[in-house]
Amino acid sequence: MNEHQRHVKARQDILKGGTAEKRIFVHMEDLEEKKKREEEIKTEREKKNERMDALKDAKTPWFCPECDKVMKSRLDDKMYRLHNQCFDCQVRFENKLRIEGKYDEWEQKKVLNNQLSYIKDQIESIEDWKDEASKPLEVFDQVGIQDVELQTEKWSQNIDQVEKLSKEALEDLNKIKEDVEEKLNSLVI
Ligand SMILES: [Zn+2]
Repeated sequence: MNEHQRHVKARQDILKGGTAEKRIFVHMEDLEEKKKREEEIKTEREKKNERMDALKDAKTPWFCPECDKVMKSRLDDKMYRLHNQCFDCQVRFENKLRIEGKYDEWEQKKVLNNQLSYIKDQIESIEDWKDEASKPLEVFDQVGIQDVELQTEKWSQNIDQVEKLSKEALEDLNKIKEDVEEKLNSLVI
Protein backbone atom coordinates (compact mmCIF):
# COMPACT_ATOMS: atom_id res chain seq x y z
CA MET A 1 0.00 0.00 0.00
CA ASN A 2 1.47 3.35 -0.94
CA GLU A 3 1.04 6.59 1.01
CA HIS A 4 -1.94 7.77 -1.04
CA GLN A 5 -3.77 4.47 -0.71
CA ARG A 6 -3.07 4.55 3.01
CA HIS A 7 -4.69 7.95 3.31
CA VAL A 8 -7.68 6.88 1.24
CA LYS A 9 -8.13 3.84 3.45
CA ALA A 10 -7.81 5.95 6.60
CA ARG A 11 -10.45 8.34 5.34
CA GLN A 12 -12.78 5.46 4.50
CA ASP A 13 -12.22 3.93 7.92
CA ILE A 14 -13.06 7.21 9.64
CA LEU A 15 -16.13 7.73 7.45
CA LYS A 16 -17.30 4.23 8.31
CA GLY A 17 -17.11 5.31 11.95
CA GLY A 18 -14.01 3.30 12.74
CA THR A 19 -10.62 4.56 13.77
CA ALA A 20 -7.86 5.05 11.29
CA GLU A 21 -4.75 2.99 11.66
CA LYS A 22 -2.50 4.76 14.14
CA ARG A 23 0.58 4.16 12.04
CA ILE A 24 -0.51 6.95 9.68
CA PHE A 25 0.39 9.53 12.28
CA VAL A 26 3.68 7.88 13.04
CA HIS A 27 4.38 7.58 9.37
CA MET A 28 3.89 11.30 8.84
CA GLU A 29 6.49 12.05 11.50
CA ASP A 30 8.68 9.57 9.76
CA LEU A 31 8.42 11.53 6.52
CA GLU A 32 9.41 14.73 8.25
CA GLU A 33 12.40 12.96 9.73
CA LYS A 34 13.32 11.67 6.32
CA LYS A 35 13.11 15.15 4.84
CA LYS A 36 15.31 16.49 7.61
CA ARG A 37 17.82 13.72 6.98
CA GLU A 38 17.87 14.55 3.28
CA GLU A 39 18.56 18.19 4.11
CA GLU A 40 21.42 17.10 6.32
CA ILE A 41 22.90 14.92 3.61
CA LYS A 42 22.69 17.83 1.19
CA THR A 43 24.45 20.19 3.62
CA GLU A 44 27.08 17.55 4.26
CA ARG A 45 27.70 17.18 0.53
CA GLU A 46 28.05 20.95 0.12
CA LYS A 47 30.51 21.06 2.98
CA LYS A 48 32.50 18.27 1.37
CA ASN A 49 32.63 20.18 -1.92
CA GLU A 50 33.90 23.23 -0.09
CA ARG A 51 36.62 21.15 1.49
CA MET A 52 37.57 19.82 -1.94
CA ASP A 53 37.82 23.37 -3.26
CA ALA A 54 39.99 24.30 -0.30
CA LEU A 55 42.26 21.37 -1.11
CA LYS A 56 42.58 22.49 -4.71
CA ASP A 57 43.72 25.86 -3.42
CA ALA A 58 46.26 24.13 -1.21
CA LYS A 59 48.13 22.94 -4.29
CA THR A 60 51.83 23.79 -4.21
CA PRO A 61 52.39 27.21 -5.77
CA TRP A 62 55.13 27.89 -8.33
CA PHE A 63 57.26 29.99 -6.03
CA CYS A 64 58.35 29.57 -2.44
CA PRO A 65 56.60 32.25 -0.34
CA GLU A 66 59.81 32.72 1.70
CA CYS A 67 62.58 32.97 -0.88
CA ASP A 68 60.62 33.27 -4.18
CA LYS A 69 62.60 30.38 -5.63
CA VAL A 70 60.78 28.16 -8.14
CA MET A 71 59.58 25.04 -6.35
CA LYS A 72 60.01 22.26 -8.83
CA SER A 73 61.34 19.23 -6.96
CA ARG A 74 59.35 16.59 -5.17
CA LEU A 75 61.12 17.59 -1.93
CA ASP A 76 59.92 21.18 -2.37
CA ASP A 77 56.42 19.88 -2.89
CA LYS A 78 56.55 17.74 0.22
CA MET A 79 58.08 20.49 2.35
CA TYR A 80 55.57 23.02 1.16
CA ARG A 81 52.69 20.78 2.17
CA LEU A 82 54.20 20.30 5.61
CA HIS A 83 55.73 23.70 6.33
CA ASN A 84 54.56 26.16 3.67
CA GLN A 85 58.05 26.81 2.32
CA CYS A 86 60.58 25.18 -0.01
CA PHE A 87 63.00 22.46 1.02
CA ASP A 88 66.00 24.83 1.21
CA CYS A 89 64.12 27.32 3.37
CA GLN A 90 63.02 24.54 5.70
CA VAL A 91 66.56 23.20 6.02
CA ARG A 92 67.78 26.72 6.78
CA PHE A 93 65.03 27.20 9.31
CA GLU A 94 65.79 23.91 11.08
CA ASN A 95 69.52 24.64 11.13
CA LYS A 96 68.86 27.99 12.71
CA LEU A 97 66.75 26.28 15.36
CA ARG A 98 69.58 23.83 16.04
CA ILE A 99 72.09 26.62 16.43
CA GLU A 100 69.78 28.46 18.80
CA GLY A 101 69.16 25.25 20.71
CA LYS A 102 65.45 25.38 20.01
CA TYR A 103 65.20 22.42 17.69
CA ASP A 104 64.08 19.83 20.25
CA GLU A 105 61.40 22.11 21.50
CA TRP A 106 60.23 22.83 17.97
CA GLU A 107 60.02 19.13 17.24
CA GLN A 108 58.17 18.49 20.49
CA LYS A 109 55.72 21.20 19.51
CA LYS A 110 55.13 19.46 16.19
CA VAL A 111 54.38 16.17 17.93
CA LEU A 112 52.07 17.84 20.45
CA ASN A 113 50.18 19.65 17.69
CA ASN A 114 49.67 16.36 15.90
CA GLN A 115 48.36 14.81 19.08
CA LEU A 116 46.05 17.73 19.62
CA SER A 117 44.53 17.50 16.17
CA TYR A 118 44.10 13.74 16.58
CA ILE A 119 42.31 14.25 19.91
CA LYS A 120 40.08 16.94 18.41
CA ASP A 121 39.12 14.55 15.60
CA GLN A 122 38.28 11.89 18.14
CA ILE A 123 36.12 14.28 20.14
CA GLU A 124 34.33 15.35 17.01
CA SER A 125 33.65 11.81 15.88
CA ILE A 126 32.23 10.86 19.28
CA GLU A 127 29.97 13.89 19.22
CA ASP A 128 28.80 12.95 15.72
CA TRP A 129 28.14 9.40 16.82
CA LYS A 130 26.17 10.64 19.82
CA ASP A 131 24.07 12.96 17.64
CA GLU A 132 23.46 10.22 15.12
CA ALA A 133 22.45 7.69 17.76
CA SER A 134 20.17 10.17 19.53
CA LYS A 135 18.12 10.88 16.44
CA PRO A 136 14.54 9.61 16.54
CA LEU A 137 13.99 6.13 15.19
CA GLU A 138 13.39 6.12 11.51
CA VAL A 139 11.93 2.67 11.17
CA PHE A 140 8.55 3.14 12.78
CA ASP A 141 6.95 1.12 10.07
CA GLN A 142 5.37 -1.50 12.26
CA VAL A 143 1.66 -2.08 12.36
CA GLY A 144 0.16 -1.72 15.77
CA ILE A 145 0.97 0.85 18.39
CA GLN A 146 2.34 -1.72 20.85
CA ASP A 147 5.24 -2.46 18.58
CA VAL A 148 6.01 1.22 18.29
CA GLU A 149 6.00 1.59 22.06
CA LEU A 150 8.36 -1.32 22.37
CA GLN A 151 10.67 0.15 19.75
CA THR A 152 10.60 3.54 21.45
CA GLU A 153 11.47 1.94 24.76
CA LYS A 154 14.38 0.04 23.25
CA TRP A 155 15.51 3.22 21.58
CA SER A 156 15.49 5.28 24.77
CA GLN A 157 17.48 2.58 26.57
CA ASN A 158 19.94 2.74 23.74
CA ILE A 159 20.18 6.51 24.13
CA ASP A 160 20.96 6.14 27.83
CA GLN A 161 23.79 3.79 26.92
CA VAL A 162 25.10 6.12 24.23
CA GLU A 163 24.96 9.08 26.63
CA LYS A 164 26.88 7.15 29.25
CA LEU A 165 29.58 5.87 26.91
CA SER A 166 30.09 9.16 25.12
CA LYS A 167 30.21 11.09 28.38
CA GLU A 168 32.99 8.83 29.68
CA ALA A 169 34.95 8.97 26.45
CA LEU A 170 34.58 12.73 26.13
CA GLU A 171 35.68 13.31 29.71
CA ASP A 172 38.83 11.25 29.10
CA LEU A 173 39.61 12.94 25.82
CA ASN A 174 39.05 16.44 27.16
CA LYS A 175 41.41 15.68 30.00
CA ILE A 176 44.12 14.54 27.59
CA LYS A 177 43.41 17.57 25.42
CA GLU A 178 43.94 19.90 28.39
CA ASP A 179 47.22 18.15 29.22
CA VAL A 180 48.50 18.51 25.66
CA GLU A 181 47.40 22.13 25.48
CA GLU A 182 49.14 22.84 28.76
CA LYS A 183 52.38 21.29 27.48
CA LEU A 184 52.07 23.30 24.27
CA ASN A 185 51.59 26.51 26.22
CA SER A 186 54.65 25.79 28.34
CA LEU A 187 56.86 25.71 25.24
CA VAL A 188 58.46 29.09 24.59
CA ILE A 189 58.97 28.53 20.90
ZN1 LIG B 1 62.22 28.93 -0.09
